[in-house]
Amino acid sequence: MQQPRIVENSPFARLARLKLRAPNVAMVLGNSIHLSGVTREQFLQDPFWVAHEMEHIRQFQQYGRLGFLARYLRDWMRHGYFNIPFEVAAREAAERDAHLYAQGKPLPSIAERHPTPKVKL
Ligand SMILES: [Zn+2]
Repeated sequence: MQQPRIVENSPFARLARLKLRAPNVAMVLGNSIHLSGVTREQFLQDPFWVAHEMEHIRQFQQYGRLGFLARYLRDWMRHGYFNIPFEVAAREAAERDAHLYAQGKPLPSIAERHPTPKVKL
């Protein structure tokens, strides 16, 4: 897979951050990971978080930009953020794939991991 581009201080991620009321957010658009409230270094230090976003990149490749975004927004309306199938799959991928992004270090503990927003919108 092509290496994703990482965009720090992204206005798109900032909007998502406000919407989710989260202190920091990573969001994928196409082949880019957009960050707000978190630096590239901080993001890359949480392999669970990286694996989560890498699953969204795979989903974008599978469904295409419009296909992904249409499904994502439709499912957000229907199920709430936490239960969007793309998010459920990304949380599963985080547990399954984190070791791929650990860079030889031990996996972080629950307390050290970035928490998934559990809001209902
Ligand atoms: Zn996600």
